[in-house]
Amino acid sequence: MQPHIGITTNFDPDLDRLTLTRYYVDSVEEAGGIPLLLPLAGKQETWDRYVEVLDGLLLSGGVDVDPGHFGEEPLPGLGEITPERDIFEIALAQQFMQAGKPILAICRGIQLLNIAAGGDIYQDITTQLPGTLKHMQQAPRWYATHTVTIQGEGKLADIFHCSQIRVNSFHHQAVRLVADGFCVTARSLDGLVEAIEMTASRFTVGVQWHPECMWQRDRKHLALFLKFIEHCSQ
Ligand code: MN
Repeated sequence: MQPHIGITTNFDPDLDRLTLTRYYVDSVEEAGGIPLLLPLAGKQETWDRYVEVLDGLLLSGGVDVDPGHFGEEPLPGLGEITPERDIFEIALAQQFMQAGKPILAICRGIQLLNIAAGGDIYQDITTQLPGTLKHMQQAPRWYATHTVTIQGEGKLADIFHCSQIRVNSFHHQAVRLVADGFCVTARSLDGLVEAIEMTASRFTVGVQWHPECMWQRDRKHLALFLKFIEHCSQ
């Protein structure tokens, strides 16, 4: 049976509207999953039911996470935050990890996942880490602008079968303290964390880039979704 994949959505408080780019839906479908969009439900009973009925969780990209979730005051470089989305996604990520169900976390998702597991992030790399490469590219979304080095061990190495790949980059935050039980599986050449995974998990993987915008032009970027869906089917 095709696995049912919950995809988290963005929340626009001014319009009281949930949004999601279709890239995520198309990627899950192309990889063999059934995409289902998750609204910002506020009740624990609803979250429990999601964990029960879904085979996998895709934490999508979006705006910044409130640094209060890792005990920091906001720095001037922090962008827009959406409190309800943070609470919903952190709860869901923690419950999926506890249940041992697969998670694929993209961009904001990798940061959210790391925070949910007890790690933290740079609120704004341009001010907190001067000298990094350009990670907020001004180029088409499908276009790879920087290189990442993939660590020898781990799921990314199994998926890509090479030590370096080129990726796109649309972030001004990044994983700092890696959560216990997680390891770094890719870094950009300036040393920033670009991918993490939960070591003991079936498939709990976060990437800082946006593969959902890349596979249409470079098929190898679908591999991450294919592996995710494969684990969700077991
Ligand atoms: Mn980057």
